[in-house]
This record gives sequence, structure tokens and C-alpha cells, in this order.
Amino acid sequence: MQYISTRGKTQPMQFSDVLLMGLAPDGGLMLPETYPSIDEATLEKWRKLSYTELAFEIMSLFVTDIPSDDLKNIINKTYNKAAFGSEDITPVTRLYDRLALLELSNGPTLAFKDIAMQFLGNAFEYVLKQKNERLTIIGATSGDTGSAAEYALRGKDNIEVFMMSPEGKMSAFQRAQMYSLDDANIHNIAVEGMFDDCQDIVKALQEDAEFKAKYSLGTVNSINWGRILAQIVYYFKGYFGATTDNSQKISFCVPSGNFGNICAGHIAREMGLPIDRLIVATNENDVLNEFFNTGKYTPRTSSETYVTSSPSMDISKASNFERFVFLLLDKDSAQVAKLFGDVKSGKGFDLSDNLNLVNEKFGFIAGKSTHQDRLATIKKVYDDTHRLIDPHTADGVKVALEVQKADEMILVAETALPAKFQETIVEAVGEMTLPRPEHTQGLEDKPQYVTVVPNDAQAVAALIEQHVAAR
Ligand SMILES: *Cc1c(COP(=O)(O)O)cnc(C)c1O
Repeated sequence: MQYISTRGKTQPMQFSDVLLMGLAPDGGLMLPETYPSIDEATLEKWRKLSYTELAFEIMSLFVTDIPSDDLKNIINKTYNKAAFGSEDITPVTRLYDRLALLELSNGPTLAFKDIAMQFLGNAFEYVLKQKNERLTIIGATSGDTGSAAEYALRGKDNIEVFMMSPEGKMSAFQRAQMYSLDDANIHNIAVEGMFDDCQDIVKALQEDAEFKAKYSLGTVNSINWGRILAQIVYYFKGYFGATTDNSQKISFCVPSGNFGNICAGHIAREMGLPIDRLIVATNENDVLNEFFNTGKYTPRTSSETYVTSSPSMDISKASNFERFVFLLLDKDSAQVAKLFGDVKSGKGFDLSDNLNLVNEKFGFIAGKSTHQDRLATIKKVYDDTHRLIDPHTADGVKVALEVQKADEMILVAETALPAKFQETIVEAVGEMTLPRPEHTQGLEDKPQYVTVVPNDAQAVAALIEQHVAAR
């Protein structure tokens, strides 16, 4: 399997090379030349597989430059009961007659990003060893991504992690989750500034070509192909968990921000998984809702981006969206390059002529949820079922209930556990102590390791120099 760029100006590559990349050199996103197609007999066979067996079958189709036994080891090391709470990894739980949750948040940091990130940690370690290379991961986080990355990369050989977060802006739980890690290769950096300042520092360091090469800087952001690949698996697993035979079609509703999660669903559907509709749920930051309803894509500026109570979906543009547009435009990379060039210069684009294809051929629709919707949905689900759902998942449930057709079975992706978002849950259902997985008990009482630095890229560069031997 070869990988190509959406912008068409990058040499085809193998999985191991794409795994360590951010953007393609031509500014595009890497993706497989073609998506493999799964026939009925194979689907039937896969229905009976365990999560790790299924992951191996699916990933083998995309990872053709790692020996089978090694890939199997990486997968078995990643997906087990110790890390994800059950052998099922992503169990399906019924909420209503035709609406169920696909539980994606039972990993170490209680959010769906663990599923991909834990795989990435083990895959990075393996590939770096093979290539005899080292990597310095830098990142900016306001919560979920940074902690998922740290828990995935802690203690890994040949990887140093420098994670910036805005000082004092994260919840006590989120701070404790990240700062309590005492692994020698994890460096928490609290920047005296906002999340955007942290992101600017990452960008400044990445753009310093000399520094970047000297310290082998890399990132683990949501455009990483390895993350998308790992996410494809649970769409299959979820489908098998919610159906009894392969003649049934179901829909997925996914709380979305950067379009990473649902992009994997789109690929599963392209591979032939019997998915009816892919329902994109957004919060007040509704750039995707707008596109899937009008065909117009109008990214916002960061000052037009709302801070909401489903914060992991607070995005101004959807970084993975280009992978879908590439397919929508029949792999016309010149056209993709033009459209996303426009996006970069602050403009949007209009594909309303293609809206029929988007809805009919690719099965996408979208809906939106607000703070009030979120609260009402958390309360409704709690009253109806005694189950607490987190604010992001609530956005998904709200949209799913709103668009559901008679006889449509919808699986809503549970993208985080409520324990991470105490404040909003209490606002919705009243004062209560939230259930917490065993491994997070007493987290806030542990010692914390964090270095506070001024809002200055040079200060962060100095820390990296101090900890990483130049190569
Ligand atoms: C990251 C995240 C999302 C959004 O996922 P995308 O892949 O960016 O669309 C939704 N919910 C939670 C809890 C997240 O952490």
C-alpha cells in the first residue's frame, strides 16, 4: 500500500514514513492511494473476531511495510483489558431502542483519543527503533490531546515529549492528569499565556528549520495518518456490536471538531462497511455543520471561535477535512490545492454544486448543539436511563435524536467520560459526586511536575536544548 498527498506533489511513500510525518511536504495530507474494499465473505469472517484480531486484519491492509508478527505485537501491546477496561475495548451500550453509545473513552485519559494515541506510542517506538532514529514531540494542549499523548508516549524509548499548556487554564482534573506523570521523558510546560500562545510557540519552533532538524521535532496532532487508521477499527467493531448480521445498516453520529474521528468512519464506509449515514455533530463552533448543510466551508478566525462547555470541539477549521474533500472532488489534487490555499489565506470555498454527492453518495449530514442543548440532553439521558454522559457525547446524542429517521439505528460515539467535566454535569443534573474509574482515584493528591515559562518560544527552546542532546 502506497500513500499519496491530497495536493499531489509528494512522492508516494510507505506507512512507516507517513507515520512520523505531520503535513506532507507539499502542504497536503497523506492518505492511501486507494481504500481497500471489503467483500461480504470477509465481513462475515470479521464479525466473529476479537478487537485485537480485527485490528490486525484491518491494519494489515494499510501497513504493508511492517512484518505481520511485529504489527501483531504492537496491536496486542496496545489493546488490552489493562489499558481499556475490557477485552471488548469499545463496547456498545444501549441508551434507547434504536440509539446506543459506542464507548470509546475507557482508556487511560478517559477520552476517545486514547484509542489512536496508545497505538501511535507503540508504533512510533517500533518504527524509530527500526530506523535508528530519535524524535522530540512538541505539542500544545488545552486538555484532551496533550494528556492522551503523554500517557501514550511515557517511558517510550527514543522519544522526548514537551507539552505546553496555558498556565492555570485547565481544570484541576486535567492538570493532575498531565502534571502527575513523573516519567523522565515527559516534560510539562505551563506557559504564562493562553492556548493560542502555546500553539504559536509550537509553530515558531517547527518553522525554525535548523532547530527542527537539530532536535528532530515532530508532533502527534490529529492529522497523523496512524491515528486515523487506528480509529477505523472501532467503526467495524461498533457495527458488529450493534447488529446481528451484515444485511443490517446502521448510522453513526460523531461529536466532531477536527474531523479526525468521523473521517475514519467515512473511510470504513468507503471500504464497504454497511453504514447508512455519517452524522456530524458540532457545538456552537459550527463550521462543519454549515458545510454539510450548505456546501459552503467558511473557517473562522480564532477570535470568532467560541469557548464552550464541549471544549474539545472548539475549533475554527477542521484539519482533517481535506482528506474527505479530496475524495469528493474525485482526487483532483490541483483543485484541492487551490481550495485549501484559499483557506490558508483566510477565505473559504463553495462546493454547493457537490452537496448532493456529499449527502447521497457519501452519506454525510450534520447538526448542531448548544450549551442549553447539552445540559438538557445530559439531564434527559440521566432521567431516562440513569446514565451520565459527558458534554461532547451529549452534543452527539442531541443531534442523533433530532435527525433520526423511523427505523434508523444510530450509534453515538462516546468521546469522553463525564468525570472529566464535573462542572457542566453538575450544572445539568445538580450536585453529585461523579463516578470515576479506579485508576484516577486520588489523582489530584499526587505530586505534580511542571515548569512554568514566560510566553516566549526561546524559553521553550532553551528547555528542549537542556533536556535533549543535539544530534
Ligand atoms: C478531540 C475530541 C473530539 C473531536 O474529535 P475530532 O476528531 O477532532 O473531530 C470530540 N470529543 C472529545 C471528548 C475530544 O477529545
